[in-house]
Amino acid sequence: MSDLIEGGAPAPAPAPRRDFIRELVADDVATGRFGRAPATRFPPEPNGFLHLGHAKSICLNFGIAQEFGGTCNLRFDDTNPATEDVRYVEAIKRDVQWLGFRWDGEFYASDYFERLYAIAEQLVTDGKAYVDDQDEEAIRTNRGTVTSPGTPSPWRDRSVAENLELLRRMRAGEFPDGSRVLRARIDMAHPNMVMRDPLLLRIRHAHHYRRGNDWCVYPLYDFAHGLSDAFEGITRSLCTLEFKDAKDIYDWLVEAAGFERPPVQVEFARLELDYTVLSKRKLLRLVEEGHVAGWDDPRMPTIAGLRRRGVRPEAIRAFAEVIGVARKDARVEIATFEHAVRDDLNMEVPRRLCVLNPLKVVLTNYPEGEVEWLDAPSYPHDVPKTGSRPMPFARELWVDRDDFMEEPAKKFHRLAPGREVRLRFGYLITCQEVVKDAEGRVVELRCTYDPATKSGQAPDGRKVPGTIHWVSAAHALDVEVRLVDRLFAQPDPDDVPEGQDFLSALNPASLVMIPHAKAEPSLAEDPVGSRYQFERTGYFYAEPEGSVGGKRVYNRIVGMRDSWAKEVRKG
Ligand code: ATP
Ligand code: MG
Repeated sequence: MSDLIEGGAPAPAPAPRRDFIRELVADDVATGRFGRAPATRFPPEPNGFLHLGHAKSICLNFGIAQEFGGTCNLRFDDTNPATEDVRYVEAIKRDVQWLGFRWDGEFYASDYFERLYAIAEQLVTDGKAYVDDQDEEAIRTNRGTVTSPGTPSPWRDRSVAENLELLRRMRAGEFPDGSRVLRARIDMAHPNMVMRDPLLLRIRHAHHYRRGNDWCVYPLYDFAHGLSDAFEGITRSLCTLEFKDAKDIYDWLVEAAGFERPPVQVEFARLELDYTVLSKRKLLRLVEEGHVAGWDDPRMPTIAGLRRRGVRPEAIRAFAEVIGVARKDARVEIATFEHAVRDDLNMEVPRRLCVLNPLKVVLTNYPEGEVEWLDAPSYPHDVPKTGSRPMPFARELWVDRDDFMEEPAKKFHRLAPGREVRLRFGYLITCQEVVKDAEGRVVELRCTYDPATKSGQAPDGRKVPGTIHWVSAAHALDVEVRLVDRLFAQPDPDDVPEGQDFLSALNPASLVMIPHAKAEPSLAEDPVGSRYQFERTGYFYAEPEGSVGGKRVYNRIVGMRDSWAKEVRKG
């Protein structure tokens, strides 16, 4: 991965928006409910790279801390030794920073193992937890169903002394994996299945990326999460809706552990985005099975992938702002994201000309060897930025094949035999002759230019509806362009026939390589990481990994407009 990381500029505090969570926090402040400033946390598990769904949660948690003068911690929820890695910890820190946020505390749930264990002993002493010798399979079966109560474990009524001794021996590593667990003693007939004596600790003789082999009683998510929040003095623990059922055990644990004014969990809708999967498990499969080049492949909905594609952190924050926070799940259209990206770039980046699919034009009445340098403004009138660059104009040009039709369709206003068009920043030209090779493929257009139309206007006022982009053939840079498109071909990649999975919905054209595009020469002076609008073509990013065989590489960040909507209408 490249070291060239821009972004990271602190996010300006947006004007407070009143969603239901901000209402709650405003109320906390007004009533002094927690007796401390609002405190949130972003709690990723370091088992993969962050994606757009996490960005929503990051903007929410850090945004609230900023808006209400509170704090936001970064906490690694690293209680599963099998899947976690320091490489993910580093990627997560870098992505949060790049998004423009600074955490107050940096914590690791794995640093809380001793404190959690101490609470486990206290629960045992209070008669609120017991060691169960059943295996996890038996525990699951005996939990009952939503309509029938569970069956109490034969070990449920062990004495405190026996439980304490067994728990200590569990921790000392005397028992094999799966032989015993610690469970809360709550209610085997509780209407919320989660409350039927949930598991708190289980034995894992495994290597943990931070703890090495020194720990073997791993806390389950529910046991670790709420108490970690409580240790850090979190006020509102924001999580996605699938944790709704876990709220009861959250509350039970922080209360049983004796916290005063404990944190309160609040659930919000997780982001689901069309043409995308937002699940680390699925993204990991894409990486591991080689469907993409890595977590930072520019087609990935990961923060690292979006950065690599050229999306700016401003666009991601604006997107989070636009979608807001709701209590109910709803899919978001990809157009909403693409619009945020385009909107951000439109005001920021200079316009340039690049021909993706070159077709030679020879201006037969233009003097051989002559070059004119046209002054080409870099921004349109409605963008506050100014500037221009010199554009060489000469007898031989490249135009895009898509801007020529031998037999023009009805509303086609570009080049065709006998047709006149305007060259951007330049003259009006007329196609006089179409040159073909032996196979009948068009290889050259012989055109004439009107020397009286340098301004792009005809002095006689004749109307020329089409304007096309071009570059001088003698001056053009040979560049590689990568057309990055949607990774999946259908809005819901999980909506596939029986027996197939989301991989069958991959878009085979998600990355189209154009090895020989022709760009205007001014691009040669710009550093990698520059962004542009290639006029009429889309927004592009000068790939930070630099050049391929001396050739510059440009990733398409986003197209000019929603070309997919058009296809759907056509289809
Ligand atoms: P995944 O399913 O991708 O693994 P996760 O929820 O297991 O996601 P965590 O690392 O545990 O990933 O998530 C860290 C935080 O980000 C959690 O608070 C979680 O609720 C939030 N989060 C994860 N995915 C989304 C999403 N799609 N929309 C909003 N928030 C999300
Ligand atoms: Mg998770």
